Amino acid sequence: MQNNCIECNCYIGFDVYTYSISNFNYPFCRTCQKWFQKATYNSTPEALNLYFELRKRNVPAELEKWDGFKTIDIAIVEAKINIEIDGMQHSFNPQQARADLMRTYYSFMKGYYTIRIPNQLVRFHLEETADMITDILSEGARKNKY
Ligand SMILES: [Zn+2]
Repeated sequence: MQNNCIECNCYIGFDVYTYSISNFNYPFCRTCQKWFQKATYNSTPEALNLYFELRKRNVPAELEKWDGFKTIDIAIVEAKINIEIDGMQHSFNPQQARADLMRTYYSFMKGYYTIRIPNQLVRFHLEETADMITDILSEGARKNKY
């Protein structure tokens, strides 16, 4: 079986693969192991888990994408979809909810649709959530072609 880095898709040898799985849970090349260590400071575990589930499904997702105004948890630029993974404060705090809606609005005006996913959904239904997003993306791609 050939092993590839889940982030950059380069070939990785068995030793690097084994080391990466046991230390980081995912197969990374040496360069991407460093990238991942940094990513764990900036992203929540939920954002990272969903990101890698999408990568496994060949979704061209980008983590912590800066759009010139704010950082998006997960961006899928070619589908013009932003994914924000929200903690509880996003639904319980009206100020936060209002700020979120403004962000959604400004992104939409630029042609980007925002999908907001609660932390809990990623925590308890990771695979299903990733499948659903992948379906939304492929349906979007199909519709845009015709
Ligand atoms: Zn890599």
